[in-house]
Amino acid sequence: MRVVILTCYPEMFPGSLGYSVIGNALENKRFSLEVINLHNFGIDKRGSVDDEPFGGGPGMVIRPDVIEKALNSITFKTDNYCKIFLTPSGQRLSQTKLNNLSKHEEMLILCGRFEGVDQRAIEILDFQEISIGDYVLSGGEIAAQVLLEGCIRLIPGVLGHPESLLEESFSNKLLEYPHYTKPRVWEDKKGIKHEVPDVLVSGHHERIRSWRKDKAMKKTKSMRPDLLKEDL
Ligand code: SAM
Repeated sequence: MRVVILTCYPEMFPGSLGYSVIGNALENKRFSLEVINLHNFGIDKRGSVDDEPFGGGPGMVIRPDVIEKALNSITFKTDNYCKIFLTPSGQRLSQTKLNNLSKHEEMLILCGRFEGVDQRAIEILDFQEISIGDYVLSGGEIAAQVLLEGCIRLIPGVLGHPESLLEESFSNKLLEYPHYTKPRVWEDKKGIKHEVPDVLVSGHHERIRSWRKDKAMKKTKSMRPDLLKEDL
């Protein structure tokens, strides 16, 4: 996958995308990352990209002509691309959306700042609006890294254990079952001993599978009952 980022803060990349599984994928060229500074397309010598909102109100808005110029500097190499604008007022990101996005060969992500981006740029230049959750960050750069972390790990060959995708949270509209590791008996600082559930050390695969399914269902009902109803 080829990823192109439009941002006012190019130095924020690769950021978290340079580490661990995703960092390895970047190094091994499972995806490429091009980061374009919107200020290079600014309207004056200072590289200004924003202006005051029509109608009044606080903050500044990124200009449509700046976005267009930046976009015109990019040539998509395939027809299988998507253009995303990250915004709290977009459609909320989900595992299903990540699955669909990860199938693109090219992905352009526009990171907003200030009050956001002129609506004409979003509509006329055909960006899909995606939110990473119901809260407001001060810029789209971290949101882009969240979206990409979720997407890139779904690209075949990126994860060392691809089977972990099959049972993780949201894969069957359920949260994942709880995990345990060594020590088998853990003594906390009050001297109380906590044992790993017996079934997990029984070696009985069918019982383990059924215990995990039951735990996943109970956890989902208690933490996220909405998942059992929602069409994600
Ligand atoms: N005025 C906007 C609003 O009320 O919806 C908030 C703008 S926010 C301060 C600046 C930029 O941060 C946005 O343009 C967007 O790119 C990014 N951002 C903030 N929260 C986000 C979220 N939940 N999901 C995706 N992007 C977000």
